[in-house]
Amino acid sequence: MPDVAYAIIGGGVIGRAIALAIEQRGLAGDVVVIERCPQDRTENQSSRNSGVIHAGIYYRKAERPLKARLCVEGNELLYEFCREHRVPHAKTGKLVVATDAREEGYLHGIANIARENDVPGVRMIGADEVRSMEPNIRATAALYAPSSGVVDAAAYLAALRRASSAHNLFATEVVGIADRGDEFEIQPHCAGKTEAFTVRWVISAAGDRGDDIARLLDPTSEVRLVPARGEAAKFYSGKRADLALGGRNIYPVPSGYYPDGTRAEVSYDEFQRLLGEGSITETVGVHLTPTLDDEGCIAKTTTIGPAIRAGIEIDDLASGLYPPEYFHKGVSEFFPSVRVTDIELHQAGIQSRMQGQLDWHLAKDKRHPRFIHALGIDSPGMTGSLAIGRYVVGELLATPA
Ligand SMILES: Cc1cc2nc3c(=O)[nH]c(=O)nc-3n(C[C@H](O)[C@H](O)[C@H](O)COP(=O)(O)OP(=O)(O)OC[C@H]3O[C@@H](n4cnc5c(N)ncnc54)[C@H](O)[C@@H]3O)c2cc1C
Repeated sequence: MPDVAYAIIGGGVIGRAIALAIEQRGLAGDVVVIERCPQDRTENQSSRNSGVIHAGIYYRKAERPLKARLCVEGNELLYEFCREHRVPHAKTGKLVVATDAREEGYLHGIANIARENDVPGVRMIGADEVRSMEPNIRATAALYAPSSGVVDAAAYLAALRRASSAHNLFATEVVGIADRGDEFEIQPHCAGKTEAFTVRWVISAAGDRGDDIARLLDPTSEVRLVPARGEAAKFYSGKRADLALGGRNIYPVPSGYYPDGTRAEVSYDEFQRLLGEGSITETVGVHLTPTLDDEGCIAKTTTIGPAIRAGIEIDDLASGLYPPEYFHKGVSEFFPSVRVTDIELHQAGIQSRMQGQLDWHLAKDKRHPRFIHALGIDSPGMTGSLAIGRYVVGELLATPA
């Protein structure tokens, strides 16, 4: 008999949501979550994200079936979880704003995806309605998604940990994995010592290091995660009326960038075509996100970001950060009253995508069917986390190995 039934490598929102889903499904056996950082050290993606509860309007089922489905399902589950576990959050709604006719074409394209994905309540609104909702925002039209919101990401991660009775190993790094036939041998390294225990199922939810884990299992693995840093800035609106916002998430239309860094100024159909063939990388754009105060009410600080930087090391959170001017340029077209001097740098986080893939990778290992990989869980992974947990358990773990 193995020592443990399920070992989850990684104590971010994905690992912890999977631990909770195992328990909710009533699967028999102990669950251990192994996390390399000490408790409450916040270096992972789950603690350094923008805190947006996404509605699920950007992901076409054809190219990104998991994001399309699990973001929408996860959105509902996350609100339910936050209510039940008293995690500070707010269903703020979101505006994606267009500033000219080309961008309005993007709104129609996104509205079609929202319909296809069954995102509730999404509608197009005109310039007058935008002005009445957000007098300081300049737009020719917008798409309104009422199910978008914000959550205190660190509080959500902590509540997930408390919600499951999984055994937690902190400051413990998995440094070896061996398939012994009916069980795996896991080698955790903690306080200078490497020990070993056996386990029947392993779930790798190691965030940016998921490809390292794949290589521990199989040194010939060709899985490669490509990290990108998301940098955020912020401003305080308490002293100037022209900076005040209505507490909504406000986004420009998405942008695509060619490998040399130039922006693809193309129609939405062409944008989707270039994205599908891998010629551009997509960002949802530098946007405005309300923050929450200690009581869970919308605060007077708004974050701006993320600005995405590719080509960095996975632990480089600080070198060569974008200056306030970059964030100002990103939002001034639709938020003209903000000045460079209003903006200060806030935080950075790193997320990774699987090379050459737009969707998340949730699958059993081809050669080791009781080993499950959660790879490239980039945004909106926090929103999707509870649905990802259920998917991994219901469609991968609870099916024959
Ligand atoms: C800047 C930024 C903004 C984002 N904004 C949003 C947003 O607004 N909304 C949204 O829904 N999503 C957002 N995301 C995405 C979201 O944060 C991620 O999808 C999600 O947090 C991924 O969780 P995870 O558990 O896979 O990874 P992580 O949170 O990184 O957790 C993985 C864990 O594995 C541990 N680990 C790694 N290797 C080992 C090992 N060998 N042994 C033991 N432990 C190990 C790490 O220490 C880490 O704690 C954003 C991400 C970033 C970076």
